[in-house]
Amino acid sequence: MIGKTREYPQEIMILEAIVRRFPPDDFRKAEFEKKLYRKRAGYKGEKTLDYFLEQVDHSEMVILHDLRIPINRTHFQIDTLIITPYFLLIIDSKNYAGTLIFLPEFNQLIRVQNDIEEVFPDPILQTKIQASQLKAFLKKHHITPPPIENLVAISNSQAIIQNPTNDKEVSYRVFRSANVAFKIPPFYKKHTQSHVSKNEMKKIARHLIKAHEPLVPDPKSMNLPFDKMVKGVQCPACEAFGMDYRQGKWTCLNCGHKTADAHIQALKDYFLIYGPSITSKEFREFMKVRSPSTVKRLLSSMNLTFDGTTKGRTYFPGKSFFD
Ligand SMILES: [Zn+2]
Repeated sequence: MIGKTREYPQEIMILEAIVRRFPPDDFRKAEFEKKLYRKRAGYKGEKTLDYFLEQVDHSEMVILHDLRIPINRTHFQIDTLIITPYFLLIIDSKNYAGTLIFLPEFNQLIRVQNDIEEVFPDPILQTKIQASQLKAFLKKHHITPPPIENLVAISNSQAIIQNPTNDKEVSYRVFRSANVAFKIPPFYKKHTQSHVSKNEMKKIARHLIKAHEPLVPDPKSMNLPFDKMVKGVQCPACEAFGMDYRQGKWTCLNCGHKTADAHIQALKDYFLIYGPSITSKEFREFMKVRSPSTVKRLLSSMNLTFDGTTKGRTYFPGKSFFD
């Protein structure tokens, strides 16, 4: 069973909003675009592994996706954790493109792409560290840790994987995501003793889900040019900003596209960049709407909660506003 699903990361949603509304003439925009590209690639790699994992019989397992667990004033992150009665299995997925050269002697992963060489942290070492942190977490919750195994999934099917020193650990632990169904069974042969009951499996899952703290970066710490961020409602067809609201519809002044609800995405952008509250005045300025009655109608048409009296109301995203 899937004990915890993978959500679209808040960090990516924030970066998408920032990139959409970053002033085009500011040279720092490229930095945010690069970061967004990297984070999206990572997420795509995780989803690729999820897809192949779906095809494995997981009736006797509990699968937890995307954990971020606080421990000793820091956090450890696990892309995928599989809980079985015999062992726990950590799988880290990497979506790197290019040629990946594993050099475990010095804990290095070299990536060569377009004649550029880069060093990445050794993903096998990363999963080993995650395993020891998970062990400490379980002990803290008075659970005797079962054996913990670790794998590194390479999700980018274009990547070339190399193991020039023929390291056994690399060939045992690094694999292509599509092969996950064949990578798990050998662990059942290695660990034949049952360590945790079904109830204990659920207990481990419960503790981890309860402790999970999703990463929510604060745009205020990113040194954004807040006053210069692009305002207005964006056309979903041609991506131009500054749609005009008339007779219950947004009209694009650039391509003529008409739509009723383009302000919802704009408000999402606002909450992601400026924080989770907005006044009617801020809404009017950000959406570039003149009529107070339109502002009122648009605000009350969305899934928002509010504080205060009619005039000084502050609005907040409702429970499923971002779904
Ligand atoms: Zn348009």
